[in-house]
Amino acid sequence: TKTYRIAAIPADGIGIEVIAAGIEVLNALAGKTGTFRFRFDHFDWGSDYYKTHGAMMPADGREQIRHHDAIFFGAVGAPDVPDHISLWGLRLAICQPFDQYANVRPTRILPGITSPLRHVSGPELDWVIVRENSEGEYAGVGGRVHQGHPEEVATDVSMMTRTGVTRIIRYAFKLAQSRPRKLLTVVTKSNAQRHAMVMWDEIAAEVAQDFPDVTWDKMLVDAMTMRMVIKPETLDTIVATNLHADILSDLAAALAGSLGIAPTANINPERKFPSMFEPIHGSAFDIAGKGIANPIATFWTACQMLEHLGEAPAADRLMRAVERVTADPSLHTPDLGGRATTRQVTDAVIAAIQGDNE
Ligand code: NAD
Ligand code: MN
Repeated sequence: TKTYRIAAIPADGIGIEVIAAGIEVLNALAGKTGTFRFRFDHFDWGSDYYKTHGAMMPADGREQIRHHDAIFFGAVGAPDVPDHISLWGLRLAICQPFDQYANVRPTRILPGITSPLRHVSGPELDWVIVRENSEGEYAGVGGRVHQGHPEEVATDVSMMTRTGVTRIIRYAFKLAQSRPRKLLTVVTKSNAQRHAMVMWDEIAAEVAQDFPDVTWDKMLVDAMTMRMVIKPETLDTIVATNLHADILSDLAAALAGSLGIAPTANINPERKFPSMFEPIHGSAFDIAGKGIANPIATFWTACQMLEHLGEAPAADRLMRAVERVTADPSLHTPDLGGRATTRQVTDAVIAAIQGDNE
C-alpha cells in the first residue's frame, strides 16, 4: 500500500475542528479502499503560535513541508491578531513561494441544499472558478508614505506579468476543455483598469487559439456578478484575477447554499512544490469551539486532494458519501438551517463511506 504524507495545518478557530473531521474521514476512506493510507504530520502554526513566537510559522516552516505530498489547511485568523499578519504570515507565505498559482474553486448545489436563487436547481449551477493566486492585486506591491499624517498616500499596486497571466489562462482553458460543456468565461475590468487588464484580454485571445474546441467569452467583473445571479446556467469554467475571483467565489459559495460547503485547491501545476487544499471559509470565531462548524467544505477539498494525488475513484467515493449526507436535512448544520453538529455530520459521512460498496 502507498502512503501519502500530508502536512496538516489546522491553524485557527473552526479550522482546528474541520481539519480534525477531515482527517477522520480520510483515514476511514483509506481503510475502506485498502490500496493507500495517509501519514498526517501536524503543524501547530497559526495565531496562537504567533502570540508565543512572534511569527505565524517558524523561519524554516516551508522547508518542513516542502517534501510532503500535499498540504491540508484549515483557516487562519484570530480576533486579537491583525488579519494582514495572519494572512500574509501563513496562508500567503505558503501559497506564493510554493508557486500555487492556480486556485481552483468548484461550485455546485449539492443534493438537499437549497440555493438562495429560487429558480435554480442542482444541475443549473455547476461552475469551477479559477483564481489567479500568485500576483495581481495581492502581489504585495505598494506602500505608505507620511503614515498617519494628513498628506499620507498609500498604494496597493496590482502587478501582472505576461508569464503569470498566460499560465493561469492556459490552465483555465485546459480545465474548461476537460469539462463536458467546454465553456470558459474570462473576467476582467478592462474598461477601467486600462493596463494590466487590457493585457489580460489580449493574452486570453492569444491562448484561445490553442483551444479551438473551447467556447469562450469575456465579462466585466461587475456585470459578471449579475450574470451569476440571473443566468447561472450560462456559466461553466470561469477565470479571474486574484481579487476578482476572491469576491466572485464568495458569491458563488453563497449561491450554492453556504460558505461552509465551498472548497478550494491551491495548485502548483508543475508539481515542483506541494499543493494546498482548504475550505474557502475563514476561522469563524463567532462559532468556534461550539462543535457546529460545517465540515462539508473540508470534505470536498479532501476530494480535490485525492484527485490531485491520483486517487480519483476514492475522490468519487468520498463525494458520493458527502452527497448522501447533504441530501438528509436532519444532517444539516446551523449554517444550512439545520441543527446537526460537526460530529454528527462526520460520523454520517464515515458511515456512508463504509456502507458504499460500489
Ligand atoms: P468566515 O469565513 O470565518 O465567517 C463568515 C461567516 O460564515 C461567519 O458567520 C461564520 O460563522 C460562517 N461560517 C464560515 N465557515 C463556516 C462553516 N464551516 N460552518 C458554519 N458556518 C461557517 O469569515 P470572517 O468572519 O470574515 O473572518 C474570520 C477570520 O477568518 C478573519 O480573521 C479572516 O481574516 C479569516 N479568514 C481566513 C480565511 C482563510 O484562512 N483562507 C478565509 C477567510 C477569512
Ligand atoms: Mn476570500
